[in-house]
Amino acid sequence: MPITTEDTLRWLQQLAHVLHENRDYLTQLDSAIGDADHGINMDRGFKAVNDKLPGVAGMDIGSMLKTVGTTLVSTVGGASGPLYGTAFLRAGMATSGKHELYEADVIVMLEAAFEGIKARGKAQPGEKTMVDALAPALAAAKEAEAQNLGLSELLRRASSAAETGMKGTIPMLATKGRASYLGERSIGHQDPGATSSWLILKTLADVCG
Ligand code: ADP
Ligand code: MG
Repeated sequence: MPITTEDTLRWLQQLAHVLHENRDYLTQLDSAIGDADHGINMDRGFKAVNDKLPGVAGMDIGSMLKTVGTTLVSTVGGASGPLYGTAFLRAGMATSGKHELYEADVIVMLEAAFEGIKARGKAQPGEKTMVDALAPALAAAKEAEAQNLGLSELLRRASSAAETGMKGTIPMLATKGRASYLGERSIGHQDPGATSSWLILKTLADVCG
């Protein structure tokens, strides 16, 4: 069963709900190694996305995701707004005109999003950012596709790899973004952006898997 336009809408709606529920958690993580606004940023951005969803119902998946990207760029400040905005814009370009996403389409979408974040933020794995959740998630998704495990399992494995990657940021020294200003004091804390990346993929797996 592919991901449909209706699934995409339900994912985005549920994501707005999940990010609202996790607003304090993400902000608390960002208060340890940043400026205590990541939950506020994500909640604000996805509330704006949620408000736009009635207007995108009936559009193709690419158009929906591009709308998410432009909305995030215009409503979320900080590092995460342009990064996630670029990710959703690139994901939208990669799925342009599609009303259904099969395994290979999902890989193309995830890869485009990930490449967008890397191009924009220039972070490599190991620098304690969202890249540390997304890189293993993409690798796990590709491996699941190569093994023909089906879409549900592909999404589940991507989400689970993102969770492991997120936890792996705890012992890392931050060398990108605001957390890098703390130097050694960034060690021992989970990265907020890696955590929101996991929530995005977990919600995708929960809704579309
Ligand atoms: P800000 O740091 O501007 O306050 P947020 O708090 O919303 O923005 O987002 C912080 C998150 O952004 C970090 O936890 C990290 O995962 C991510 N981040 C910061 N800089 C980069 C970068 N150059 N590349 C990838 N992710 C980054
Ligand atoms: Mg912040």
